[in-house]
Amino acid sequence: MFNFVGLKPTLISIAGVSVLFILATHFQVFISEASDSIHKAVYPVLAAVLLFSAQFNRSRISLLCGIWLIFVFNERHDAYWKAWVDTHQPWLIITLSLIFVVCALIKDRALLSFHLITRIVYLVLCGALSWYWLLHSDSLLLLVPDNLISEPSKALIPTLLPLLLCNVILLLLSVRSTDLTKSILLISSLLWSATAFELHEFAFDAIILVLAVLYLLVVCIESYFLAYRDELTNLPTRRALHQLALSLGRRYTVAMIDIDHFKKFNDTYGHDIGDQVLKLVASKLAKIKGGGRVFRYGGEEFTVIFARKGIEHAQEYLEVLREEIANYDMVIRDTSRSGKQARKSARSQSMKTVHVTVSIGVAEKSTKYRFEQVLKHADLALYRAKKRGRNNVCQ
Ligand code: GH3
Ligand code: MG
Ligand code: MG
Repeated sequence: MFNFVGLKPTLISIAGVSVLFILATHFQVFISEASDSIHKAVYPVLAAVLLFSAQFNRSRISLLCGIWLIFVFNERHDAYWKAWVDTHQPWLIITLSLIFVVCALIKDRALLSFHLITRIVYLVLCGALSWYWLLHSDSLLLLVPDNLISEPSKALIPTLLPLLLCNVILLLLSVRSTDLTKSILLISSLLWSATAFELHEFAFDAIILVLAVLYLLVVCIESYFLAYRDELTNLPTRRALHQLALSLGRRYTVAMIDIDHFKKFNDTYGHDIGDQVLKLVASKLAKIKGGGRVFRYGGEEFTVIFARKGIEHAQEYLEVLREEIANYDMVIRDTSRSGKQARKSARSQSMKTVHVTVSIGVAEKSTKYRFEQVLKHADLALYRAKKRGRNNVCQ
């Protein structure tokens, strides 16, 4: 019920930005001296991040950069709407906060597609909602007794309340998901709120520049994980394995692991339960001791690399792993029940305990063989393990 998978990235993001703030406060003199360069850098950096994130299909980040570009343009030039915006600051503050929430709720869809129209509709709706709220918040304020809050504080409520709500929603969305874009939206919203209520003395150019760099960082980190992490098991992929192979020394051991009769397992329990089991097996494999590093080679096959270790050492730890998996009571959710029924209560989902075994082939690097050949030897050893009756480790 309580899903806090995104707690770590959220806390790291908040802590990172806090440290940045402390450092910036300490070196404020230098920032003031560089204000001219910062001012000049905002447009090109925002435009570059917009193009870069669009190239990597991170359309929400592109959208944010686009909004900041319009915002900066409005601040710097005498656009014909500037006077109106300047006299409607609360509207602007709330609208932008709502946009952050909307961005956290939508998906990264292709920027130049019909989805762009729906996004524009969402943005207009944010503006309309903010307008509607401000129009009616006065009557809401009449409900607050005069002796409870002083008049100046009372005037802040119509802006403060939605901002608080938006930040809480973003915090919840961020801690419940591993999506880094949600964490950066929370950071954007917090910085925007702090600026709106003048809680810091930095020029907004500097804040936008920091945000643009953070957006760039998020696109890079997410793209790295896309290429090198397997989505289902969260293990490094075959691409990462070949990357590691380039930096392996003269001595190492390679193991190929394959789940036994997994096709039959899928046929019996269904592909969804097969996926759950793959995840559980992968989580056990990831905990291998003895310096082994696990990769999803593909399908139900995994590779373990023991850098600087011989075959006896590896075999000892692989044997422990094989036994652990064979004795592992895997509790799985039966997703074949209807979604509506299952959602009604957690108890209505039936739980099952299943078991699988793995066969393992091991090979050690010797002077005359390259990595691909050692891998091939491990694969041949795996074939022998299967022939021997499965659920065993073979050299
Ligand atoms: P063996 O003991 O000889 O390895 O038998 P096996 O059935 O495991 O071997 P085979 O290679 O013929 O079948 C592998 C099966 O693994 C086929 C496919 O149904 C299943 N599989 C591969 N990738 C996935 C996946 O991502 N999810 C699920 N659920 N099943 C997968
Ligand atoms: Mg196989
Ligand atoms: Mg298999």
